[in-house]
Amino acid sequence: MRLILLGPPGAGKGTQAQRLVHAYNIVQLSTGDMLRAAVATGSPIGLRAKAVMEAGDLVSDDILIGMIACRVNEDDCRNGFILDGFPRTLAQAEALEGMLAEKSLTLDAVIEMKVDDALLIGRITGRYTCANCGAGYHDEILQPKVSGICDNCGRTDFNRRSDDNVEAVGTRLAAYHEQTAPLLPFYRAKGSLKTIDGMAEIDAVTKAMKAILDAG
Ligand code: AMP
Repeated sequence: MRLILLGPPGAGKGTQAQRLVHAYNIVQLSTGDMLRAAVATGSPIGLRAKAVMEAGDLVSDDILIGMIACRVNEDDCRNGFILDGFPRTLAQAEALEGMLAEKSLTLDAVIEMKVDDALLIGRITGRYTCANCGAGYHDEILQPKVSGICDNCGRTDFNRRSDDNVEAVGTRLAAYHEQTAPLLPFYRAKGSLKTIDGMAEIDAVTKAMKAILDAG
């Protein structure tokens, strides 16, 4: 199964992707995570991306397209993948079409998670992840069962993203509306776009996604 999760920052793409990975035995390809790893190791891509990401702007298409083109060729993608954060521009979407066509692969679904901008700022500024396993939490919406201890791996170190602040979030939302929203009519015209209410409870969103995916 191959799918794209589309939606503004804070829509819950990463949270839902983690759940779908387990349900369908596929991998999550988060370009944000890949770039953050590149920044952390100080690789040439990381050095180019760091300031752009901190400001909340989009990293250049050539970097992203090259990154995904390599990643989808890896063995663990054979059973399928969830693209989380890619494509984010029409140029990326068109490049992805080319990559898939070359391998005679198709997308099973493009799911838009629709969330009002007003909700997103609070969602983003309250979120954090386990430093060890990456499980996602939120100060109000999704706390660990035992305060300060990751439900998934039991560790006690957590991280907050440096771009999850009010200024960068404004820029990220603007980038979504200007550069990513045009992908909605692009995929709608291909008949692959499904839209779900991303403001529903986390479990209800997962259920709605599974209903789409299981309907084939
Ligand atoms: P995310 O974790 O998806 O919110 O991505 C964090 C940041 O990484 C974004 O604000 C961009 O600066 C950069 N980024 C991630 N994916 C892309 C992409 N497909 N195109 C351009 N920039 C990206």
